[in-house]
Amino acid sequence: MGSDGAPIRQRDKGAGRDLSYPPLPEALSVPIYDNHTHLEIADGENPLSYTEQLDRASSVGVRGVIQVGGDRETSRWSADMAQIEPRMLAAVAIHPNEAPVYAAGGTLDDAIAEISELAARPRVVAVGETGLDFFRTEEPGHATQYRSFEAHIEIAKQNNLALQIHDRNAHAEVIATLLRVGAPERTVFHCFSGDAEMARVCAEHGWYMSFAGNVTFGNAHDLRAALAVAPRSLLLVETDAPFLTPMPYRGRPNAPYLLPNTLRAMAAHLETDVSLLSAQITSNTELVYGRWDAEPVTAAHDADRSDTQPVGGLA
Ligand SMILES: [Zn+2]
Repeated sequence: MGSDGAPIRQRDKGAGRDLSYPPLPEALSVPIYDNHTHLEIADGENPLSYTEQLDRASSVGVRGVIQVGGDRETSRWSADMAQIEPRMLAAVAIHPNEAPVYAAGGTLDDAIAEISELAARPRVVAVGETGLDFFRTEEPGHATQYRSFEAHIEIAKQNNLALQIHDRNAHAEVIATLLRVGAPERTVFHCFSGDAEMARVCAEHGWYMSFAGNVTFGNAHDLRAALAVAPRSLLLVETDAPFLTPMPYRGRPNAPYLLPNTLRAMAAHLETDVSLLSAQITSNTELVYGRWDAEPVTAAHDADRSDTQPVGGLA
């Protein structure tokens, strides 16, 4: 274990951003899971540790998270933390915007080889986030993104892991790639950003759509139209914390404990019962990633706390 669990990245504080954490929402009566978060990134005026993050989450019915890496260091951190924290499972990958950076330094193959090793570790349940990002990466980097994306798809298939896709301004190209090389059995569009038409394409292929806090934003009409046509059996929910804080807290630090805000907004839009939607999404989440206690952790994360904070799945 190379880490004590302290955040290893810092989010840009931005100009004039409110850096206080939003209040705790009312607890859900049926628990859910945050299938995409970045607890390695510190945010806010008093950044929370990962245990504080997860304690707050548990207190409002967010029972566990998938901690997602985007480069070698954060993927290693994710795999290490999942091994000692029962409420955390891990996803590992080189992010599509990082792939050209490694390629420029001549180390992309090494980086992908490390992801392949991490993918075989216990409690690593997904390869991601990987995909294509034509918003932040310019044309010369696209060929590298394709190469990296295809390598990650292969790693997911070899290890029978779920695939978490990052797709920004590249819907058609991501879909074409999945169809050309063959999508893994469990494929998730993280922070789904398509419209109703794309939701229909995903549904046709059995691909999961994970909605984040931006589904609550005022101008997100296309996204809510997609939510309305997506089969309930393919819905997932995530924070992508510390980013994409749901309304009415947009711009403030996001955290897994705010997932109920997004879930409740989704239920309201779908005119369905919150508990019914929670139960459906939890069942979907376990179908994609397995159960959080399927492979128990190998050590307690903090001996001082383990007698006062009983947590499921401790070996
Ligand atoms: Zn992310």
